[in-house]
Amino acid sequence: MSDARAYAASSPTAPLAPMSLTLREPGPKDVVIDIAYCGICHSDVHTVRGEWGAGAYPIVPGHEIVGRVARVGKKVKKVKVGDLAGVGCMVDSCRKCENCRKGLEQHCFGPASFTYNSTEQDKKTVTQGGYSSQIVVNEAFALKVKSGLPLERVAPLLCAGITTYSPLKRHGVKKGTRVGVLGLGGLGHMAVKIAAAMGAKVTVLSGSQSKRPDAKKLGAAAFALTKDPAVMTQLAGTMDLIIDTVSGPHDVAGMLGLLATGGTLVMVGASPQPHAIGSFPLIMGRRAIEGSLIGGIKETQEMLDFCAKKKVLADVEVIAAKDINAAYERMLKSDVRYRFAIDCSTL
Ligand code: NAP
Ligand code: ZN
Ligand code: ZN
Repeated sequence: MSDARAYAASSPTAPLAPMSLTLREPGPKDVVIDIAYCGICHSDVHTVRGEWGAGAYPIVPGHEIVGRVARVGKKVKKVKVGDLAGVGCMVDSCRKCENCRKGLEQHCFGPASFTYNSTEQDKKTVTQGGYSSQIVVNEAFALKVKSGLPLERVAPLLCAGITTYSPLKRHGVKKGTRVGVLGLGGLGHMAVKIAAAMGAKVTVLSGSQSKRPDAKKLGAAAFALTKDPAVMTQLAGTMDLIIDTVSGPHDVAGMLGLLATGGTLVMVGASPQPHAIGSFPLIMGRRAIEGSLIGGIKETQEMLDFCAKKKVLADVEVIAAKDINAAYERMLKSDVRYRFAIDCSTL
């Protein structure tokens, strides 16, 4: 198998730099994809900087992958050479455990093989992600992508899209459901668009006043500045569901007060620091906090088809590979509208 051109982090403190990546030899059920675009997810930064724990360096991050099928193994049925395909946060799972059988591969007891900083099901081969010219993936974990869409705007659906679609769907969001989206970044802006496409009345809950004009354009009914205590008091008890996408420490307890009785705050943001939550905001309003991790493969395909039908795409700023490190710094300052997508032809 030929080498791919990639960008990798060699340590938690080193900037990402070009690297030649030897891909695993494709088997009969594997697909080789020429990557066109890869989104930059905040999880990439948490991982390469060791914020969630020790990493297996070098790490080629990237799990919002879209491109064209370059080669297929003899037994591949799902796609053919020349088709568009996507890869999200997983490249395999045990496929036998209770969760895999339920289509919850992300919760595989195996565990699942995540797209990077993880291992294949052989528990030996280290996985490497989408800041690369190519990836090899089992056909079961390749997603079908409809033609005629701008691929750079499709890429972020593979993580930001499914991570927000899954809890919105699970909670039965429909016309009139009052949804708060906390943090207007890559995940947040997808949550707004998808919830609005499901018919929800969406309120953006943001710490950045500069994002106010975008809320309506993205499909929200309202924008609320979380730093303004008067606005927070006014919104108390008005939301059925909050999708919390914030990547760092923040006042989760304060946000619980915005939920109506029986409401749920879904934590998708993965702050490395713990949150302080008292008993009373939960008890008094019979409120819940739940976590949510991406979505299964069948649900990811369902999300891609939903987004294609409803014309939901990410808002992206396309960058060249040489600008990845600068993009990380800008994302950390909430200075991206709303996802960076790497043009992988520049690797
Ligand atoms: P992002 O683009 O950086 O967006 C995060 C947003 O949160 C920012 O734009 C900002 O929004 C707000 N924010 C950031 N730091 C904050 C702080 N300390 N206090 C208050 N608000 C803050 O990141 P992302 O790619 O959307 O990812 C968000 C989080 O989700 C990350 O932790 C990521 O690892 C996690 N994630 C989880 C899953 C999952 O399956 N659960 C999947 C993907 C990503 P405002 O400017 O509007 O305040
Ligand atoms: Zn992600
Ligand atoms: Zn499994």
